[in-house]
Amino acid sequence: MKISRALMEVRAFSHKEMFILAAVSGGRGSRAMLTALSELLGDRVVIMALTVDEGIPGVSDKRIEAAKRDCENLGIEHHVVSLKKVLGFTIGEVGELYLRGKLKLKPCTVCGVLRRYILNKMAKTMGADLLSTGHTLDDEAQEFLMKFIKGNIKDMTRSFSLGGAYELLVPRLRPLKYCSEEEIYAYLKIKGKSLQEAFPCPFVAGSYRDRVRQLLRRRIEEGNDVRNAIIKVAEGIARGLEAREIGRLKRCPECGEPTSRNLCRTCELKDIIKRVMNAHRKT
Ligand code: SF4
Ligand code: ZN
Repeated sequence: MKISRALMEVRAFSHKEMFILAAVSGGRGSRAMLTALSELLGDRVVIMALTVDEGIPGVSDKRIEAAKRDCENLGIEHHVVSLKKVLGFTIGEVGELYLRGKLKLKPCTVCGVLRRYILNKMAKTMGADLLSTGHTLDDEAQEFLMKFIKGNIKDMTRSFSLGGAYELLVPRLRPLKYCSEEEIYAYLKIKGKSLQEAFPCPFVAGSYRDRVRQLLRRRIEEGNDVRNAIIKVAEGIARGLEAREIGRLKRCPECGEPTSRNLCRTCELKDIIKRVMNAHRKT
């Protein structure tokens, strides 16, 4: 019911030739998303899956393997794109520079931006009509709080837009955005699917998202579940900002991808990281 509501919001049921590219990480969210897409839309749209190989030693390979298995079980074509091939470095290398005090950027900050960039670029290259992600209600609530605390209004519009408002961005589909992690767990159990979570990344501990996640978890444990209220507010704000064209995108002069800045955040991060890497190689 909640999944159908999310699918209807972006009219994912509406036309037969539609091609949905699903971003998968081998975790519970992406497994539940693939299962739902395949059951509800599999006979009327083309579904393919894509995993970004971030190049995190001991993590990315295991996530790719799990994602591949999930896709095989559902008969969905699976592709892998390497962050190193697209941008010239891995998140493992970024993390190492950060841990050695050579780079101020936290690996998660870089990883999130670059993964979104690559997914949008690949979705356009492959001709996808919709880019689907396995974000749950918990992920959405965390995302909103993170952006709200940082006062990041422009990004807030795009993250919670109901899709199609930004011509340079492939419209997003988030089938699980109204489903809590507990509901996803129960859904997978009913469907007889693996309950294995995405292989844990060593960089998550102490990250901004992790702190926000714990904050929300504490509220739930205290009997104050604010997740549904947060997403309601987030979508209301996004609609209001969208109508006023706040967060409008233009092309990055360096890579041609969408941005609301002069230079897109990916090109900015890429320049910083490459500069630090080169300086580090010389020493
Ligand atoms: Fe990337 Fe951070 Fe997630 Fe690791 S925990 S995969 S670095 S966003
Ligand atoms: Zn750029």
